[in-house]
Amino acid sequence: MTLNPINDDVVAQLRQVLPDKCFRPIEAKYLEEPRGIYHGSAGVLLAPSSVVEVAEIVRACAQHKIGIVPFGGGTGLVGGQVAEDVPAPVVLSLERMNRIRNVDAADNVIVAEAGAILSNVQGAAQTADRLFPLSLASEGSCQIGGNLSTNAGGVGVLRYGNSRDLCLGLEAVLPDGTIWNGLKRLRKDNTGYDLKNLLIGAEGSLGIITAASLKLFPNPTRYVAAVLQIPDPSAALDLLAKCQTQLGGTVSAFELIHRQGFEFLAEKQPQVRLPFVDPSEWMVLIDLGVTGDFDIETRLQQVLEDAFEAGLATDALIAQNEAQRQEFWAVRETIPEANRLVGAISSHDISVPVSRIPELINRGAALVSGLGDDLRINCFGHVGDGNLHYNVYPPKGRNRAEFKALGGPVKDAIYGLVDALGGSVSAEHGIGRMKTDDLLKYGDPAKLAAMRAIKAALDPLGIMNPGAVVAQNH
Ligand SMILES: Cc1cc2nc3c(=O)[nH]c(=O)nc-3n(C[C@H](O)[C@H](O)[C@H](O)COP(=O)(O)OP(=O)(O)OC[C@H]3O[C@@H](n4cnc5c(N)ncnc54)[C@H](O)[C@@H]3O)c2cc1C
Repeated sequence: MTLNPINDDVVAQLRQVLPDKCFRPIEAKYLEEPRGIYHGSAGVLLAPSSVVEVAEIVRACAQHKIGIVPFGGGTGLVGGQVAEDVPAPVVLSLERMNRIRNVDAADNVIVAEAGAILSNVQGAAQTADRLFPLSLASEGSCQIGGNLSTNAGGVGVLRYGNSRDLCLGLEAVLPDGTIWNGLKRLRKDNTGYDLKNLLIGAEGSLGIITAASLKLFPNPTRYVAAVLQIPDPSAALDLLAKCQTQLGGTVSAFELIHRQGFEFLAEKQPQVRLPFVDPSEWMVLIDLGVTGDFDIETRLQQVLEDAFEAGLATDALIAQNEAQRQEFWAVRETIPEANRLVGAISSHDISVPVSRIPELINRGAALVSGLGDDLRINCFGHVGDGNLHYNVYPPKGRNRAEFKALGGPVKDAIYGLVDALGGSVSAEHGIGRMKTDDLLKYGDPAKLAAMRAIKAALDPLGIMNPGAVVAQNH
């Protein structure tokens, strides 16, 4: 389907219905993405401040068949927020739709506009003594609309679920410019097809999310974190099961860390304090949050003693205070940045059934070593929900540019393995523009056909984020 570039006439039409403040200079940040792989283009940058203004923009674009690229915090890792080959599209930034409309402690609900920065949503919940548990390393920049559009996961999924699980209702503008007011706060609502869950994870390909009602939770009164050295990834699974049985529902995060991550931190981010001088190959970071007078410290101590006895852990540090807990978390949260600075040959956001993680790690290492000598693997992530980041790096002292040709074979090997283990080639980052071919290769044909039919039904002109998720030539 051919789209038209925006032109002066359409801009003049938009100027009649939108205030001047909507028209923004096209700064470089709207055309870039964190990995530097995609470089976007824009005919005009519009930053509306209300759902009515968003609807005006979408209606005009539908009338003239102009592509729209929704832009949130710009932290997406699969190129969904930057379009390279759409003719002079409208880049629609949600940054001015950043109000917290309501915080209701009795209903345990917060209503936030799509452009609200995630950390501000968390902060607004805290002011009502409630927890909004979505937590990602990018939380100071990403927006709630972007989180929902990518169905972001992060470190709290094990206990609280991903973005989809945290959303009760949406307000959105559909591709013909219709405003859908679905900002309900219901926890039960079986009234036919679930439009909310179609828009969540659609990465802007089915409409623009303008606001969301989101679940809040009791605010834990105390947190405890521990870092453990473990003999192997299987021990992590046994430990997780032990923690979940013995510590009730207090386990908020359970992160697997590889020594390679520590080495990258020491090399690229030496200001980060590492908990062990001589770390074992595998470690886990456990975070617990409790309400009431549950004696978490004693219970955790008991779990650790049992773990040592069962050979599931060889060393452990329990954070003595909040500052130390934050230090432990800084290690985990800075690993992605250290990885970026080292530069991967190929990186993968994958998931497998939790029980198959050890097999993934062992078979993955064998496949990678078969592709080249001394390649380094940094495999880490949210072991509690089966989501690992599996990144492959050049041998120490070598540059990734020399290994460019290996990127494809490494990806094919890892994705092939993930597929064979019943996993997913995109666990939490989405499809964007980067993984459209992978979706075709590994996606179920019936699901793909249904996706195309949904896209054609809701966006027959193909104006919403063209090329993302369901690529036009697919
Ligand atoms: C350091 C770092 C750590 C990260 N950690 C995690 C992690 O732990 N877990 C995780 O899941 N992700 C993680 N990410 C990826 C990223 O932060 C998430 O995908 C985030 O949800 C994107 O939000 P955003 O506002 O930046 O969206 P953007 O990057 O602006 O957009 C992402 C996609 O959503 C669309 N979009 C944005 N806003 C809207 C809207 N209002 N309506 C419709 N479509 C919209 C865009 O068109 C694009 O397709 C990380 C990224 C970085 C840089």
